[in-house]
Amino acid sequence: MKNFNPADNIQDLQYFGEFGGVNPSISDSSTYTFLSAKTMFDTFEGNMEGCYLYSRHSSPSNLYLDKALAAMEGTESANVSASGMGAITPTLLQLCGTGDHIVSSRTIYGGTYAFLKNFTPRLGIKTTFVDITKLDIVEAAITPETKVLYCETVSNPLLEVADIEGLAKIAKRHNLTLVVDNTFSPLSVSPARLGADIVIHSLTKYINGSSDTVGGVTCASQEFIDSLKNVNSGASMLLGPTMDSLRSASVMKNLRTLHIRMKQHSHNAMYLAQRFEKDGLKTVYPGLASHPSHEIYKTMINPEYGFGGMMTLDVGTLAKANELMELMQAKNLGYLAVSLGFYKTLFSAPGTSTSSEIPMDEQIEMGLTDGLIRFSIGLDNDIERTYKMMKSCMMELEILTSEAVLTA
Ligand code: PLP
Repeated sequence: MKNFNPADNIQDLQYFGEFGGVNPSISDSSTYTFLSAKTMFDTFEGNMEGCYLYSRHSSPSNLYLDKALAAMEGTESANVSASGMGAITPTLLQLCGTGDHIVSSRTIYGGTYAFLKNFTPRLGIKTTFVDITKLDIVEAAITPETKVLYCETVSNPLLEVADIEGLAKIAKRHNLTLVVDNTFSPLSVSPARLGADIVIHSLTKYINGSSDTVGGVTCASQEFIDSLKNVNSGASMLLGPTMDSLRSASVMKNLRTLHIRMKQHSHNAMYLAQRFEKDGLKTVYPGLASHPSHEIYKTMINPEYGFGGMMTLDVGTLAKANELMELMQAKNLGYLAVSLGFYKTLFSAPGTSTSSEIPMDEQIEMGLTDGLIRFSIGLDNDIERTYKMMKSCMMELEILTSEAVLTA
């Protein structure tokens, strides 16, 4: 990992607008003119670097963001899309066809889970869901038909950590493509540097950071990105989940502050996780020594960006979780909302929201309990003040007793 700093890589990219603007000009066109018919033909054939054809294929604004995200992840290339699912689904459909098999972590975003469980079987693609933290179980699930190993660096919502180096070795041994969704840990973890073949983000979350759009990206080799955009056979080109140029320009501007935001999210989440664990609450945060993958995660992260902004607390029952979230919202401590990576703390009970696609018996098996609240910790200026206010909500609802708090 020496000499690789994802934020420096983004910073080193310099783009000017056409009139010397400090931001690149936005390409407000769906189609592009050619000076000769031959150039148009060559561009269709994929042979004309620097020529634009049609904005579903690519646009100058999207290419700026592609380049910055590829630099961030240390991959040759990238392709932005209209949503995270708009990156995940074409990537998997490009890699797999009828008769192929995927081994996937069982703790992944509910939409991805639903896609693999309910949708891809219609196309003859089967998935085996495994506990991704157990490398022997992962390897045992591989069949001669397996093409892809799929996981999230830090899983949604249980914050399990995938040992990417270990998984990459398995993928190599069996000639599989390791696809890693790095949405929860941008900058903190650089999966391609640890051996992942393809890195995906929902830009909707930390990378854009202002909860004003959805977006996604696939970061990979030039060869794979070219295949996704191929006019005859590319899943991105043909399914059409293209990001709009105006939007990619705004995501690009927000990306410029990602390093500052990630440090503050990580600082705040670490503070709250340590305090609530001390108070006796069941707290899951990869930065805590009690997290089962803490030691390995420590070796995976680019330390200056910390352990991330996601934390879970288990308050016992769904009723208590709902009461607490409503009270915290009433006190303006955050919003009862799905998604993550906003300046404001966001909280939801994943069992009834973002993971509701996962059947109840499977939720129980993977340890997704009723009283679990997933927090995306915000950019609060004074996190000690926030802690005190959150604690007072918990005491009001008798989630924390004064006795527990006094011993903290
Ligand atoms: N991956 C993860 C880890 C997510 O949490 C989400 C959305 O919540 C997605 C992918 C899907 O992204 P989008 O909502 O931008 O399509």
